[in-house]
Amino acid sequence: MLMVIVMLLMKDVIQDGHPTLRMRAKEVSLPLSQEDLKTLREMMELVENSQDNEMVEQYDLRPSVGLAAPQINISKKMFVMKAMDEGFQNEYRYAIVNPKIISMSEESTYLEGGEGCLSEPEDVTGLVKRAKRIKAKGYLVDLDTGAVKETVIKLSGYPGIVFQHEYDHLLGIMFVDKVSEFLPDIEPVRFGSDEL
Ligand code: ZN
Repeated sequence: MLMVIVMLLMKDVIQDGHPTLRMRAKEVSLPLSQEDLKTLREMMELVENSQDNEMVEQYDLRPSVGLAAPQINISKKMFVMKAMDEGFQNEYRYAIVNPKIISMSEESTYLEGGEGCLSEPEDVTGLVKRAKRIKAKGYLVDLDTGAVKETVIKLSGYPGIVFQHEYDHLLGIMFVDKVSEFLPDIEPVRFGSDEL
């Protein structure tokens, strides 16, 4: 029997100009459907594959730390992220449904190397002012068991920036809409410039 491997590839990521990227995504209905769970698993698989050198080479992937459902043309409020903090101490691996940022610090930051996005050409980067700390609530999905748990998440620095970038996708906002040329007087997060 022929095994058919289904996995998301770069061709499945829609590009800026596609109307879905500018739409407000719809709430995901809970309990989570098998279809939405499958989508989240495929999204995480793409992000994880994109952090694996062999897979990157074999499937011509662009390294990424997050992916939102609208980027694969599914206009639903869910995203995945897998990112280390800037000190490489902790990994933040989330599959989240119906997130809502409930508070943001007044203090700002930005990613020093600029943000990028799988839904933009690879050479498009830019500085984006982000909250230094955020508090969000949402439903975290355990991708192994499918269990869903309402959770409050506090993030700062790099993982917080990743979260805010993915969250924007659910609102139909692309990072290129928010780019600043200079951000003097703001302390940046010094880290690589992975695609978000
Ligand atoms: Zn993006």
